[in-house]
Amino acid sequence: MDEGESMGVRLRYAPSPTGHLHIGGARTALFNYLFAKHHGGSFILRIEDTDLDRNVDNAAQEFADNLRWLGIEWDEGAYLGGDCGPYVSTERLDIYARHVEELRDKGVIYECYCSEDELAAEREQQMARGEAVRYSGRCRRLTDKERAAHIHEGRKPTLRFRVADDESVEFTDLIRGDMIFEPQGIGGDFVVVKSNGIPVYNFAVVVDDHLMNITHVVRGEEHISNTPRQLLLFRAFGWTAPVFGHVPLILGADGKKLSKRDESLIQFIDQYREYGYLPEAIFNFLALLGWTPGGEREILTREEFIANFGLDRVNRSGAYFDAAKLAWMNGHYLKSRSAAELLPLARRFLEPSAAGWQVADVDAWMIDFIALYKDQVSCLSELPVVGNVLIGDEATVEADAAETLNDDQAVAVLGVFLERARSWTDWTPDGMKALLKDVQSIAGKKGKDLFFPVRAAITGRLHGPDLNRSLALLGQTRVLERLGRAVAAAGEQPAT
Ligand code: GLU
Repeated sequence: MDEGESMGVRLRYAPSPTGHLHIGGARTALFNYLFAKHHGGSFILRIEDTDLDRNVDNAAQEFADNLRWLGIEWDEGAYLGGDCGPYVSTERLDIYARHVEELRDKGVIYECYCSEDELAAEREQQMARGEAVRYSGRCRRLTDKERAAHIHEGRKPTLRFRVADDESVEFTDLIRGDMIFEPQGIGGDFVVVKSNGIPVYNFAVVVDDHLMNITHVVRGEEHISNTPRQLLLFRAFGWTAPVFGHVPLILGADGKKLSKRDESLIQFIDQYREYGYLPEAIFNFLALLGWTPGGEREILTREEFIANFGLDRVNRSGAYFDAAKLAWMNGHYLKSRSAAELLPLARRFLEPSAAGWQVADVDAWMIDFIALYKDQVSCLSELPVVGNVLIGDEATVEADAAETLNDDQAVAVLGVFLERARSWTDWTPDGMKALLKDVQSIAGKKGKDLFFPVRAAITGRLHGPDLNRSLALLGQTRVLERLGRAVAAAGEQPAT
């Protein structure tokens, strides 16, 4: 089946719940989702948790939650259900067991009693001889006596799939084109069931992809070496394999594969959530991580991504992860949302500070604050930082602001302002405009001579967002305090 030919395609994202949703995994999920939606097919979420030692509590739930947050919704799968369930590997052990028996009946699997130490020693010898590492097949032909001896020793066998010595595997990858794996690249007979009786990923994935009628497997390039083994299993079962597409790696700025352990980069979706990134920005960014819609446009809607997506325009070389571009993109999406829409997402960054301000309507205050600053930030967590002059109790006075305030004329303007502000009742932006006009006519100062001293006294800076709105957000109490301090610092106590 070629890309684009098929209606009713079925794709899946199948994370192992061993950690947090990484941008690489989210990109894989997104490519599967976009491909399925582009072809009017289904996208499935399956949890592959057969590697019991590596499973992390709550990781699967967190994956699901983060995918939903990104708007990568599945049509069937874990936490949703569907006709091909269950969608969690450890709930499918009886299904795997039946299929293990099927392979046993076909005579293509056998018990292997080799211990980890013996296998490691074998590998070392092969490497010392400069040979490709592969299982020797030593347990293929155990005599009954040898087997009995192993059992007597208490050894628990693994089950291995028999790979013919001259077996090679070819397939056409939707992204990388024709692939051929020679026998030495397959690594010899491979384990399908561990000694604890649980099948390994390479076995479970084949059974699941078949029983869930998966038509296309799109996944990271790190899985390409698994593909020949999986294809051999499809062949052994007599099943048609899905079409594979292996998406190139994500590279850091140094051109090396992104390391999940590199803490200088934010790489996990929950961290981006934490920092106040918008899901649509990450969605947009991930879709362009190795794929291009053609043309210059970098901002597309979900519908446009779905309409344009195809694996033919996935780059064959690695995709550079450009965190600055993601920040820029997030800034773009922040601009396109209203302050009221952003409030639920920004609340947790602002509310802790808002508690002490005695404003009548905290939500309205936060909306005005967001509106004033949202176009200047690349993520919502920056709001209290960028707007700190309106959040803190005091504003640190910058050098040029201090110089402006160190002037008799400026202090005189502030004196008038202070006097009028004490009795001013309308603390809205329009009210502040009227107040400043009032001060202008009484003090006989306008333009810079009026606004610089006021802004310097109130915010400690000479520049900043709209002064009327800033004053309104600070409110009467804080404005009076700050003015009082500025005038006192200029060496002249305000008249009481
Ligand atoms: N469970 C695998 C992983 O988390 C995915 C395997 C696949 O897509 O075939 O990497």
